[in-house]
Amino acid sequence: MPKNKLGIIGSGQLGSLLCQAAKKLKIKTVVISDDKNGPAQNNADIFIYSNYDNKEKINEFINNVDIVTYEFENIPVEILQQIDKRVKVLPKPDINQVIQNRKLEKEFINNLGIETTNWAYVKSAEDIKQNTNLLPGILKTNTLGYDGHGQFVLNSLKDVKNEWRFSNEYILEKKVKLKKEISVIMTRFLNGDNYIYEPIENVHKNQILDHSKIPANISSEIFQKAQNSAKLIAQKLNYVGTMCVEFFIDHNDNILVNEIAPRVHNSGHLTINAFNVSQFENHIRAVCGLEKVEIKKIANAEMKNILGKEIQKFRAKVFEKGHFFFDYEKKIIKEKRKMGHITILKN
Ligand code: ADP
Ligand code: MG
Repeated sequence: MPKNKLGIIGSGQLGSLLCQAAKKLKIKTVVISDDKNGPAQNNADIFIYSNYDNKEKINEFINNVDIVTYEFENIPVEILQQIDKRVKVLPKPDINQVIQNRKLEKEFINNLGIETTNWAYVKSAEDIKQNTNLLPGILKTNTLGYDGHGQFVLNSLKDVKNEWRFSNEYILEKKVKLKKEISVIMTRFLNGDNYIYEPIENVHKNQILDHSKIPANISSEIFQKAQNSAKLIAQKLNYVGTMCVEFFIDHNDNILVNEIAPRVHNSGHLTINAFNVSQFENHIRAVCGLEKVEIKKIANAEMKNILGKEIQKFRAKVFEKGHFFFDYEKKIIKEKRKMGHITILKN
C-alpha cells in the first residue's frame, strides 16, 4: 500500500522542495525541525517546531505520518533509530550512521574497491606529522560538516601547531588538483529498480556549490565509471530514495568519490525543470512506495545558486521564458546563506 502521509525531518530548502513535489503527488507532508524559521513550513501541511530530543513532539510527529525521511544527514542516529521503531525511516538509519561519519563513509567506499582521495583519521598534531604525504591537505571534522564548514587547509607542516588539542575527530585528506567536479544523482526503489540521472558538472566557490550544468563535459568513460560507482554504492547500502555521489576528477582523469549525500542534493535542483520527474518527486515515489515512472530529459540546463544579499536583485527581476527562479523565502538574509536558485533551460 502506498504511504500518503510523509514525515520530513528538517525544514530547509531541500525539505521545502520535497513538500512541493509531494503536493503534486497528493501526499500530505509533516515537517519537524528545530529551526523555527525553516522555509519548509511554507509548503508543509503540518509544521512541528521542536528539538529533536523532545519526546512529546516526536510522538506527535510519529502519530501524524506513515513513513519518515530526512532532508539532511546530520541528525543524531539514535533519534532516527527511535523513530524507526514506530514508523519506518527511509533511507534506513544505519545508512545515515555510515555516511554522516567521514571515516566510516570512506572506509565503506574504499572497501567496495572505489577510489577516494587519500586520507587518514587524525586525532592530534602528531598524527598529522605521521602523514606528511597528505600535505597539502584539508583537515575536515569527521562529522557535522556542510558547505565547507569545519574544514581547514594545511599547506605544509608549518600550518600545524604542536599545542593543538583536538576537541573533535578529524580526517586529513590530500588536496586534489581538480580538473572538474561532478555529481551523480539516482533514485533507488524498494524493489531494487533504480533511475540514474546523467552526471552533473559542478563548480564550487569557497567550498560552496556555485553552479551546476548538464550535460557534464566529460568523456564517456568517466560518465560510465561515475554511474557504475553510484549504482554499486546504492545497491550495497540497500538504499531506498534519492541519493547523490559527489566526485572529483583530477588532471590525470582519475575519478575519485568525494562524498555521498543520503538525500536529495543541491546539484540536482536542475532536475525540477530539466526532467519530467525531479529528484524530489523521485525520492517521494521511492520512499512512499509509489510506482517508478519513465523519466525523460526535457532540456539541457544550468542552475546557479543565489547566496546572501544577491537574492534581493532576483526578487525584483522579471524572468524570460525558460528561466526558473526559486526563492526559498528564508526570513533572514545572511552572507553565504543559500537563499534561492535559478535554473536556465538550454537547447
Ligand atoms: P561539504 O561536506 O562541506 O560539502 P566537501 O568535502 O564536499 O564538504 O567539500 C566541499 C568542496 O571543497 C568540494 O566540493 C571541493 O570543491 C572542495 N574540496 C573538498 N575536499 C577537497 C580535496 N581533498 N581536494 C580538493 N578540493 C576539495
Ligand atoms: Mg560536499
